Amino acid sequence: MPEQLEAMPTDWTRALAVVAHPDDLEYGTAAAIARWTGEGREIFYVLATRGEAGIDTLDPVRAASVREREQRASAAVVGVTSVEFLGHRDGVIEYGTALRRDIARAIRRHRPELLITINHHDTWGGTSWNTPDHRAVGRAVLDAAADAGNRWIFPDRSWDGPAPWNGVRWVAVSGSPSPTHAVGVDGHLETAVRSLLEHRAYIEALTDRDPEEYCRAFVEEVVSGAAARFGGRPAVSFELFTR
Ligand SMILES: [Zn+2]
Repeated sequence: MPEQLEAMPTDWTRALAVVAHPDDLEYGTAAAIARWTGEGREIFYVLATRGEAGIDTLDPVRAASVREREQRASAAVVGVTSVEFLGHRDGVIEYGTALRRDIARAIRRHRPELLITINHHDTWGGTSWNTPDHRAVGRAVLDAAADAGNRWIFPDRSWDGPAPWNGVRWVAVSGSPSPTHAVGVDGHLETAVRSLLEHRAYIEALTDRDPEEYCRAFVEEVVSGAAARFGGRPAVSFELFTR
């Protein structure tokens, strides 16, 4: 029997998910988001880009507005109404102080106990190479968890700027090749499928498959992969960094 994953912490009420692109949270993680919002927890989304380089047949200006609309709709399906876009350039996000500052400010505004981000490792496992945007954003989120709490790093001198927030207790990395924790998502799969399906323009440009069948197959693969290491229950796995 493969080594079992630990259960995700439950003693928190506010989470902030920071990822690179529209759809990064919908390829599986949304099932966990649906469970958590259903339990009355507050979750906020921050996207580094509008995903404007994601649709080959649409120029970036039009793609940005389509994908922003699709992201807001997919968030609403899982009970998330706060969706912000940081305006970094899709495909060429640079890891650095500008990105860390933008994420630290978002953390200070939302004051989460749990941060959620996407795989920051070089690969998804084996030889499946990750994208530079995911690596940059994932690493910057892990770093900004501490930056947000230090008032001397990225000081905000405007009169109404957000105060430092040193209350992040965990950073949960989705899609990691080395997961440590999981959350059961029994009863939330259909919601997750509908959330991914809201990225319809993106998915229709990506695949010739029926969009709904494509979304269901992907979500089921993600949750059954984690189930093997979580007592056989459908689950979403994370690599959890504790602070
Ligand atoms: Zn992505």
